[in-house]
Amino acid sequence: DNHIDVLIIGAGPIGITCGIAAKKANLSHLIIEKGCLVNSLYNYPLNMTFFSSSERLEIGDTPFVTTLPKPKRAEALEYYRRINEKFDLNTQLFEEVIEIKKEADLFIVITNKKQYMARSIVVATGFYDVPMLLDIPGEHLPKVTHYYKDPHYYANQRVIVVGASNSSIDAALETYRKGAKVTLVIRGSEIGPRVKYWVRPDIENRIALGEIDVYYQSQLTEIKDDYVTIFTPQGPIELENDFVLALTGYRPNFDFLRRIGIDVPTEPPMIPTHNPETMETNIAGLYLAGVVCGGLNTHLWFIENSRVHADIIIQHILERMSSCCAN
Ligand code: FAD
Repeated sequence: DNHIDVLIIGAGPIGITCGIAAKKANLSHLIIEKGCLVNSLYNYPLNMTFFSSSERLEIGDTPFVTTLPKPKRAEALEYYRRINEKFDLNTQLFEEVIEIKKEADLFIVITNKKQYMARSIVVATGFYDVPMLLDIPGEHLPKVTHYYKDPHYYANQRVIVVGASNSSIDAALETYRKGAKVTLVIRGSEIGPRVKYWVRPDIENRIALGEIDVYYQSQLTEIKDDYVTIFTPQGPIELENDFVLALTGYRPNFDFLRRIGIDVPTEPPMIPTHNPETMETNIAGLYLAGVVCGGLNTHLWFIENSRVHADIIIQHILERMSSCCAN
């Protein structure tokens, strides 16, 4: 028959790992990805350096060889592309899963192109598609972005960077070095605790020397075409401004998860319902894998500790198949 044993949604590092595990277990698989291969990594800032060393990003028992201890985005794209090729995975790109229905023991997966029938589903959709919004007037102006790419664009411009974690600090330093006048707006009272250990002294020194301005315990309250309003402990101030990089994190697409039937609590951390021992959700045969599992806790899961989801899931699928055939 033409039913797929394991249909995987998302060709990120963990979706790919699930494809490899399915193939090793002689199960038929299909990976459906709405963008390009490893779409999230492709959309990272161009010069991004991972916080993980390369061996922690390895999948399929295949070495990720780099000359520097921490790989860059371009090297990771190369690595995962070669992995997809090496394992000859069945990966369909630029196709988005819209809906899933279950009829008896089979899933009907509806994409923007086609329909598929599958015996089990793995949702490995990550968290990079939905930015956390500031929810303030002016956020949708063209000068505001939630996805920073490249510093050159901001040369000689007055740039506000919102946030204190890795994305914000990297963007502040890079744009400063290309001649932007950078102001950091930070809700808390310090640089984020998870900022890469080799980056921290750099940002601290730029701030100490007054090369990058910072407002702690402050929040942007309004964005206009040529200025912003910041609420500081000393009261509101207005700053002339050309661009706002609002890098305040990302969250899983909860609407999508709910639409396909997964229970997601309304209270933070909004962890989609699943059994951590099998990764099965409230729907039998439908699994979660990778960083989507953390809900709003996007710093709990990364490649290193979630690549094991693939084997856990495939093992459970095999057990279900053998118990159903034994009955
Ligand atoms: P993703 O890589 O996000 O893959 C999910 C895929 O699903 C995407 O390609 C997406 O396009 C696709 N998708 C979503 N919805 C649909 C749909 N409806 N239909 C079809 N396809 C869909 N982790 C680390 O381990 N080390 C690091 O150093 C590190 N650095 C990071 C730096 C940045 C700037 C960011 C944002 C994250 C970083 N992470 C890092 C976390 C990292 O994103 C994840 O560890 C990794 O990408 C998770 O892999 P994943 O396969 O679970 O999800």
